[in-house]
Amino acid sequence: MGFQSVRDLDVRGHRVFLRADLNVPLKEGRITDATRVRETLPTLKHLLENGASVVLASHLGRPEGKGFEAAYSAAPVAAWLKEQGLDCRLASYVNGAAVEAEAAALKPGQILLLENLRFEKGETKNQEDFAASLAKLADTYVNDAFGAAHRAHASVSGMVGHFQKDRLAAGFLMEKELKALAKVTENPDKPLVVIFGGAKVSDKIELIQNFLGKAEAILIGGAMSYTFLRAQGFLIGKSLCEADKLGLALDLLDQAQAKGTRLMLPLDHVVAGAFKEDADCAITQDQNIPEDQMALDIGPETVAAYAAEIRAAKTLLWNGPMGVFEMAPFASGTLSMAEELADAADKGAFVLVGGGDSVAAVNKAGVASRMSHVSTGGGASLEYLSGLELPGVAALSR
Ligand code: AMP
Repeated sequence: MGFQSVRDLDVRGHRVFLRADLNVPLKEGRITDATRVRETLPTLKHLLENGASVVLASHLGRPEGKGFEAAYSAAPVAAWLKEQGLDCRLASYVNGAAVEAEAAALKPGQILLLENLRFEKGETKNQEDFAASLAKLADTYVNDAFGAAHRAHASVSGMVGHFQKDRLAAGFLMEKELKALAKVTENPDKPLVVIFGGAKVSDKIELIQNFLGKAEAILIGGAMSYTFLRAQGFLIGKSLCEADKLGLALDLLDQAQAKGTRLMLPLDHVVAGAFKEDADCAITQDQNIPEDQMALDIGPETVAAYAAEIRAAKTLLWNGPMGVFEMAPFASGTLSMAEELADAADKGAFVLVGGGDSVAAVNKAGVASRMSHVSTGGGASLEYLSGLELPGVAALSR
């Protein structure tokens, strides 16, 4: 894939800088959901068991970038790693002479967890002096932080150039994510059907564009549907619409036709008079929405049509909810898609779910474990699927 895997890296006796995504939710100094740290354990343990010492680093929340802030300290992560029986100590800070001495004192099998990288503004600004100070801490660099790969930050991008090319590698999580994404974007088993939902067309333009001519069908749901329908002259009542994107919507429909991708829109809708959980709901007769109503979910005819497309596909990608799935009366379109996709995966299709809301939806539907892959990095997977180069991946592949 253009970069080395940590599997093929000789790490015995080396000191490895491991950039991980340990950006876990914290409450009163404790981790409330350790999923992210747990997901990087395979790479971490592989390094330690093969005789490396590890300088482990991540960002954590959004501190100001003006030095240490107790609320954003990496201390709870160090405590969690120790609870797992790992030999981990917390560094006195992010970088600098004291931290260099702490790193130099590491023995094989030991971890030094750096303080929150974002205590230093040089991290997000990708400042060269900060990047160089991080690179001093190790002779080998491994990036397992897929969730941060779309950010050209010092620990993801700038510092990587300081290592010899053969001392760079991607961790197991990074590799797993990129392989899953590539299954959809590079020679997917056909038919390829992608399902895009969510609030705004403007957020998904590049994503849609990148699949025109590649996917057999693009199934559209969520609020962005109404901009497409309005552009074609349907009545959309009080539904959300990006009035300044009507021309763009028509252009995407034209491009789809020219490139042989069926861009499908909802055939019916669940509507209500107000954006409220207890509002009276109805199902429309057709694509039009009454003047005093707003569409908040796709209707049953749409679910059936989209399900037929899903059942015929060999590769499927889902990003974005079909309606306001956070409210029970408008969740059924989204939950039905989740069920259909899980069934498709059970029958052997490759099903990738990416993006925060769709991941929340498959969890809500209780079908996450049946999918082929659920991407952990919302922003990074969205950028990759939009055809953009991820700085963190580019740095490893230089
Ligand atoms: P996004 O962040 O673009 O993926 O959009 C997700 C949000 O869009 C969710 O919070 C949904 O509740 C919302 N959404 C989806 N469909 C609709 C709709 N028909 N009307 C209003 N909001 C919607």
